[in-house]
Amino acid sequence: MTTQTTEKLDPYYRRVILKLSGESLAHTGERGISMDEVTAIAHQVKNAHALGCQIAVVVGGGNILRGAQFKGSSGEMIQEATAHYMGMLATVINALAMQDALEHIGVPTRVMSAIKMDGVAEPFIRRRAIRHLEKGRIVILAAGTGAPFVTTDTCAANRGLELDADIVLKATRVDGVYSDDPEKNPHAILYRELDYDTVIEKNLKVMDSTAIAQCRTHQLPILIFNFKKEGNIVKAVSGQKVGTRISPRTASGERILINAT
Ligand code: UDP
Repeated sequence: MTTQTTEKLDPYYRRVILKLSGESLAHTGERGISMDEVTAIAHQVKNAHALGCQIAVVVGGGNILRGAQFKGSSGEMIQEATAHYMGMLATVINALAMQDALEHIGVPTRVMSAIKMDGVAEPFIRRRAIRHLEKGRIVILAAGTGAPFVTTDTCAANRGLELDADIVLKATRVDGVYSDDPEKNPHAILYRELDYDTVIEKNLKVMDSTAIAQCRTHQLPILIFNFKKEGNIVKAVSGQKVGTRISPRTASGERILINAT
């Protein structure tokens, strides 16, 4: 694992929300949890945290299940809201895996759950979460928002606002936001910077639309970047050029659509 970069850089952001999809905790194309993958991310998170950045991690659950996958299945044996609660519980399993990996390498953490489960995690209480962050603990936010029919992207946006984060960092397997699916279209353009309106109007696949709308309303920036490239989480928190940054229009109201060079 690379640690040398941590000595040279300062955190650009004081406090961030790091959104990790459930799939980031599994081997590519597989389901479940790979502790190799979880540990690799934990090392990157540790390095970013060592810069002095306060980090709250929102974990998804898609490697185990998503509520929407039961929609229309075998006579809808599982009520849709129940399926979403199952998805939220999946995120708790992932949160515990991430906690274990971080603590194993000496990083203090707290798991806070939006669904009360005292034997496993603290309840999410905004002021307490902020206190943990200020004390240098990584806070792992489990069970999404605690409400069905949304995703952990929306949770990342909501918690970003509640916890007064400077940015939502969304870790993905691609380098940022493209004009088209880069795996299907070799001519797809990678953007370096975009404004929220352009993302929404062009229907670019970034985060779910509720999350984008939430960030736009409150002008909370988003960075979409590739966590698979070693060192990118450190680069993201230290404000280096990585991924695609999504923010409000310019001060004079102009659109932002800048290609990566
Ligand atoms: N979920 C929910 N409410 C929330 C967050 C998540 O109902 O606030 C459910 C939803 O069914 C979602 C699943 O939990 O599909 C897992 O989360 P998500 O799909 O965001 O995981 P990811 O795609 O990031 O792995």
